[in-house]
Amino acid sequence: MDLKKLASRLIPDKNLLPPEEYEKIYPERDIDKGAEVTRLAPSPTGFIHLGNLYSALADERAAHTSGGIFYLRIEDTDEKRKVEGAVESVIRSLKYFGLKFDEGAEIDSPLNKYGPYYQRQRAEIYRSFVKKLIEEGLAYPCFCTAEELDAVREKQTENKQTTGYYGAYAKCRNLSEEQIYKNLDEKKPFVIRLKSQGSIENKFTFRDAIKGDITVTENDQDVVILKSDGIPTYHFAHAIDDHFMRTTLVIRGEEWLSSLPIHLELHKVLGFKPPRYAHTCSLMKMDGETKRKLSKRKDPELSLDYYRKAGYYPLAVVKYLMTVLNSNFEEWSLKNPDADYRDFKFKIDKMGKSGALFDLEKLCDVSKTEISKLSAEECYGFLNSWVEEFGTDTDKARFKDKEYLVKILNLIMGTGGKKRRKDIERAEQGVRLIEYFFDDLCNHYDKFRFDDKTVTAVLEGFAKVYDPADDNSAWFAKLKAVASNAGFAAEMSEWKAHPENYKGSVSDAAEILRIAITGKANSPDLCTIMGILGKERCLKRLNSENCISLNKAQTE
Ligand code: GLU
Repeated sequence: MDLKKLASRLIPDKNLLPPEEYEKIYPERDIDKGAEVTRLAPSPTGFIHLGNLYSALADERAAHTSGGIFYLRIEDTDEKRKVEGAVESVIRSLKYFGLKFDEGAEIDSPLNKYGPYYQRQRAEIYRSFVKKLIEEGLAYPCFCTAEELDAVREKQTENKQTTGYYGAYAKCRNLSEEQIYKNLDEKKPFVIRLKSQGSIENKFTFRDAIKGDITVTENDQDVVILKSDGIPTYHFAHAIDDHFMRTTLVIRGEEWLSSLPIHLELHKVLGFKPPRYAHTCSLMKMDGETKRKLSKRKDPELSLDYYRKAGYYPLAVVKYLMTVLNSNFEEWSLKNPDADYRDFKFKIDKMGKSGALFDLEKLCDVSKTEISKLSAEECYGFLNSWVEEFGTDTDKARFKDKEYLVKILNLIMGTGGKKRRKDIERAEQGVRLIEYFFDDLCNHYDKFRFDDKTVTAVLEGFAKVYDPADDNSAWFAKLKAVASNAGFAAEMSEWKAHPENYKGSVSDAAEILRIAITGKANSPDLCTIMGILGKERCLKRLNSENCISLNKAQTE
């Protein structure tokens, strides 16, 4: 068969460059030996998840700890799955978490010499190579209809055989020249398939950069490389792109491991040296006693938007993921609490080989710790940017008063040094936590533990003597006097010695006051809170009638 003639008929494009030309257009990168070129290659489906960030962080670290390059390529060969705005969402999400691309789609960089970075814009490159493979007898047209392929699959399933287009099932593999041209003359739609040279009888050892040596069976599937619309499949496009974008290390989820034999064969028939592959293990969570994969349907925390909307501190998410990526990160981080996580020596081969456990509670702890390291001003900036994007109009109006907010945050977070409070876990919760500083009468959540008469005695007693000019000790002395009048022990020692003589201790009386003022049985220093709130607001909240009825309504 005249394969050159067939190739020209199947790929009639006039101005295709010969494949060798692309070696010159996309030369080897001028980077140090050992520098890794990695990429994030999402399909623009609109759902960017934690697994993507996990992989992207490994990509970014592998590239940047070796003096290499991390780029963004959009794998948009499947038009049906494309979602408007998905690319922007990937870029925005990664930016939120502080991950920077050096080059790639929508990245403004002088390094962008290996583009275009959208696969749909690279159709000519792919077609040039498809043509070459046809000329070499390594690819052929397939005219099978969807119905025919379904029938083959059914038969294979019935016979308990591997499904797909291979061996005797690859009907179009051996079409005669006459048959092919007849089909073409009849304008039958066709795809181009790889003429696989592999056999499932052959196994070989493959070294994965994470999983180590694994035994792989050769591919024998005549996979589609060019679809009937002239656009390649992901398998084919990624092989060409990783070669010409000079990727040295492909980090991707282990769900791609089953396609590895196809990818290795594609590199082989194309005459390329494949990049190193690193397959990351899936993120798992504990569901009761069992460990299972995070699922899009069951686990909202799989979506990256979840973290933005809930306002997790982005650096905390990244640091937490670093502990999942490299188990020695946590120890390093404890020894170097103030160091930039980028100073840690990330190692791809230290990544877990199976099921990485993702623990949202632990992430919350990291988030609390990271937020507690912020100054009140920085914390304001963080909360305010969340409020601007996700807050209610009321939140937005409140956050305009920066001075007031910084005062509150100074108190909420503690005053510097080692003893910082860790009450803020994420922006949304932080914004709600400080709500009691705003309402005319706060929302009561915690129940009074004493009868109305006692509550009234404490609140009214304190309202009468409260003076915002009092310092902490004067404030406390007044509280003790009020407590004592209302039947509480003013000194803890008295209370401990004769509990039968009192309704409770001074700290129980303080709790009444605290609930009236903040709504909560626990809060930072109450005297300071009252100072920030101002006398008028405090007296309103100490109005026992209002306070008791609100408290009842809220806790019933
Ligand atoms: N486009 C593939 C995806 O959507 C990327 C696979 C790879 O990294 O090779 O996940």
